Formats: sequence, structure tokens, C-alpha cells
Amino acid sequence: MTTRLHDTLTGAVRPLEPLEAGHVRVYSCGPTVYGPAHVGNFRSFLFADLLVRHLRWRGLRVTWVMNLTDVDDKIINGAAAAGIAIDELAERWIAGFLEDARTLRMSHPDVLPRATEHVPAMVALVERLLAGGHAYRTDDGSIYFRIASWPAYGRLARLDPGQMRVGERVAADEYTKDDVRDFVLWKGPREGEPSWETALGAGRPGWHLECSAMSMQYLGESFDIHTGGVDLVFPHHEDEIAQSEAATGKPFVRTWLHCAHLQMGGRKMAKSEGNIARVTELLAAGASPRALRYALLAAHYRTALSFSDESLAAAAAAIERLDALVAALEAYRSDGPGDPSLAGLLGRAREAFGTALDDDLAISPALGALFDLVRDLNRRIADRTLSSPDADTALAALRDLDTVLGVLPDPADALPDALDALLEARASARASRDWAASDRLRDELAAAGILVEDTRDGQRWRRAGSPSGA
Ligand SMILES: [Zn+2]
Repeated sequence: MTTRLHDTLTGAVRPLEPLEAGHVRVYSCGPTVYGPAHVGNFRSFLFADLLVRHLRWRGLRVTWVMNLTDVDDKIINGAAAAGIAIDELAERWIAGFLEDARTLRMSHPDVLPRATEHVPAMVALVERLLAGGHAYRTDDGSIYFRIASWPAYGRLARLDPGQMRVGERVAADEYTKDDVRDFVLWKGPREGEPSWETALGAGRPGWHLECSAMSMQYLGESFDIHTGGVDLVFPHHEDEIAQSEAATGKPFVRTWLHCAHLQMGGRKMAKSEGNIARVTELLAAGASPRALRYALLAAHYRTALSFSDESLAAAAAAIERLDALVAALEAYRSDGPGDPSLAGLLGRAREAFGTALDDDLAISPALGALFDLVRDLNRRIADRTLSSPDADTALAALRDLDTVLGVLPDPADALPDALDALLEARASARASRDWAASDRLRDELAAAGILVEDTRDGQRWRRAGSPSGA
């Protein structure tokens, strides 16, 4: 079974063949920590999480690196506006990012390197480029990459070789340079900006340089997969390729994966557009973390995802169906002989789910396979064809698929004792046919976000799709 992925550089869907057999090295461009990330940023991080989880589920070892850009024009401006040091601003928003990532159940990357802690690696990379004639100094102490020295420039973004550079980062990079297309590797010192004393002289790294230096430090000069949002293709990733390959003489990345935009109100979600939704705000407005994760994962990563109250409501409904099935399987008791067709059903579901994700992370057919299984298991529960061990087996199969999706209720996330006591009290009220007490306790539990239902297997509970719902 081989996973196939769409590579932006070649434009082809190709089998993933790790440079080291059985070990996939993945680098994802992480957040620039000058403010809270929005859900558009998290769409890009969660697609990388889906990739990493899927590859691990397939039995591959994955080393996942996601950088934290903690020095950059936006951070310098933000810190100046807030009247604090850049490391204080960065520290605050790194904490915010990690909290949001935990809330959305993003796997913790194996390494989360910070740019300011990797300046020596960046300096070493610039020294190699200077020695190879791919970089030059300007009068203000800055160092630029010489694009004329690198004929392959523009392949990723499919640029016309004569095309000028455009983009918001460019203006900030303009000091003085030989060719308008050249991009800054190292920025000479400026009044009011942080600066490092290095072998290159004083100054600070350019943003593109940060990702090349940190990815190669942790993953080697050539590695398997580099991910990011589609807006990073040019110039960020184009520049990463040029400076990395010019320095090492080796192919930098085998497969480039880019996630399409998240849209809200018909436009790309971006700070500059003013149509931002943040994780904490959505939770405060009543969204559940698992529904939010589902909503961000449920569209294929290369298609624009339209984010709205409706898409979030649809995700919440999907989560409720999953929760109801988990609760039903947990409560299910039957001494019957069992269902001989169950193993085949679970095997086919796993096969369809995995095959879909192997095909460039095709999430829609993967979710289709999951919800076909939900329907078939619900039918078997209703028909009482399962035995108690069958129910356990089915639950384990769901949890297996969920190691990729990360949306089922957490089994470790037991109810607080007080609510557990209410559930027990209600069960005994029903046993003694005290319907008034039973109804009162049901209302009390509902007020605490626990919905109780009475079934042949006794009372069954699940969490309402509330902000407190895990
Ligand atoms: Zn990057």
C-alpha cells in the first residue's frame, strides 16, 4: 500500500517513496507569532496533521518539524505598537498557538524550532551562498540572493523567467540590490530592530532563510515532504528552494504539498480582508472543538473550504452521529452468539478508508466509508445482532480509524465524579420506578451538558455539542 500525493513542483500525483525506507521527514511552515492564528491558518496546520497521522497509521515512522517564526517585520511592528520586546510578544503568541493546537487536537510536532534560536545555522547557510557566488552584500550590511545565478528559479511557481517579483513581503525586503528580483537573505542592522552580531556582521535573518536553515538542520539537506498554505508557494517556497539547492547542490524537497485557502463570506480568510475567525472566539460562541476540527478537515486540502455557520453546524451534526454510536456501543449488552458478518464489515470499512486517504488524502470518500460503517453498525445495534464482544470489537475499529481523524470523544475523558453520581442516582431512581426523580435528574444532567437517553441496555449518555463538550 503506497500513499500517493500531489506534488506542486511537478504537478503530478506520485507515490511517496521516503528517502529512508519507512521513515518520512516532513516540514510544515508554522505560524508567525505576532497575534492569534485564525482558523484559515489552522486549516493548513491540520491538513499537515492529517497527513502525519495517516502516514503513522500506515505504519511509517514520521518526523514532523513545524517552525515558529518569532522574528519578522510583523512581530517587530507588533511589539513596537504594544510597547514590549519582541520576545515577549512572541512568547505570548506561541503559548496562544499551542493552546489552540491542543484544543483542535493537532498532533504535537516532533520539533517546533524557533527562528531566533537557530541564527548560527542561518549564518552558515548564507556563508555557503556567498562562497558559491549565489549571494552578495549591499552597503547597508544586507545580503541578497542573486537570482541570475540560479536558472531554475521560478519552477515551483511556474514563473515566466522575465517576471518581476510581486508580493507584500517584497516591499519590506527592499534595501538596495542588483536585480529587482533578488531577495534578502540577511537584513543589515536598523535603528529600533533586533540585531545579532554574527560572522556576517550585525543584522537579522530574512524570513525565507529561516525555514531553509531550520528544515535542513532537523531533516537533512534533502527531505521528503514540505507543506504550507498555497499563498506560500511564491515567493516563500520558491526562495527556499533556490537558496537551499544553491547552497547544497542537492535536491531540497521531494514533494511539495500546498493547502488551498479557507474562505469566509466568499473571500479568502485573511487579516487584510478583515474576515477572520479565531479558535477562541468560535469556542466562546458555542462551537465544540471537535466540530471545529471536523469542519476544517472535511474538505479536500486542495479545494477551497468555505467556512460558515452552516459548515460548522454540519460538522457538529456529524460529530453527534459519531458520539451517539460510541455511546450505543459502550452501553450495548447482549449474550447472543454474535454477528458473523462483522469482521468483513469492519475490514471493508478500514480498506475503503485507508485507500481513500492514500489517494492524495481524499477525505470525502474516507469520511464516506466511515459513515457507511456508522449506518451499518447502527442497524446491527437496532437489530440486536451483535454480541457484547462484537460491540467492543466495533468500538475498537472506530477508534482505530480515529487515530487518523482525531474527532471521537476521548475515552480518557471520563465524566467528573459529581455527574457520574447523578447518572447513578438516576439509574437507581428508574430501577425503583421513581419517574419524577428520574426526570428531575435528567434535567439536571442536561443543564450540565449531558444528554441521557433510555434504551434496552439501560440509560445511555452523551455530551451535548456545547463548548464544554470534550
Ligand atoms: Zn516557511
